[in-house]
Amino acid sequence: MQLVILDRDGVINEDSEHFIKSPDEWQAIPGSPEAIARLTHANYRVVVATNQSGMGRGLFDIGIFNRINEKMYREINNAGGRIEGIFYCPHRPDEGCKCRKPEPGLLLEICRRLHCDLGGIPAIGDSLRDIEAARAVGARPILVRTGKGRETEKKHKDLDDVEVYNDLAAAVDALLNA
Ligand SMILES: [Mg+2]
Ligand SMILES: [Zn+2]
Repeated sequence: MQLVILDRDGVINEDSEHFIKSPDEWQAIPGSPEAIARLTHANYRVVVATNQSGMGRGLFDIGIFNRINEKMYREINNAGGRIEGIFYCPHRPDEGCKCRKPEPGLLLEICRRLHCDLGGIPAIGDSLRDIEAARAVGARPILVRTGKGRETEKKHKDLDDVEVYNDLAAAVDALLNA
């Protein structure tokens, strides 16, 4: 089985500069649940790696985070897809942890827990820090133009090693048709 690592906000669901801090604020990007279902049906293991500094900032707690993720699981399951796990960093940027992307801690944790090698694993995100974390572990960085993606693409010129797609649906189509 192959593995795919997804960022959450801006990739699976619409992002918000005010953080996603309630289930109601979690809104799937059209086509993303179905794209995850295509991965599941193609025998990919799908895991999420997400920075959630809203927790460290006191905007929501772990109980609310779990309820938000339950909504995500439900919508993805309804589409026929499966997320195997969510790995998250709850820290604020100023805490200097080793898990907040661009640090590779979350990806290394995934590697440790799932006993897999991160080399060449597709890691799909909408921010430079997603790409940097992927690069740090030798994964295959993929940028989507949803969420902060367009801004990321415009702002950063050193993306020659990064595949860019309009959204998760297009990225998954490219992965599966390769
Ligand atoms: Mg994001
Ligand atoms: Zn952290």
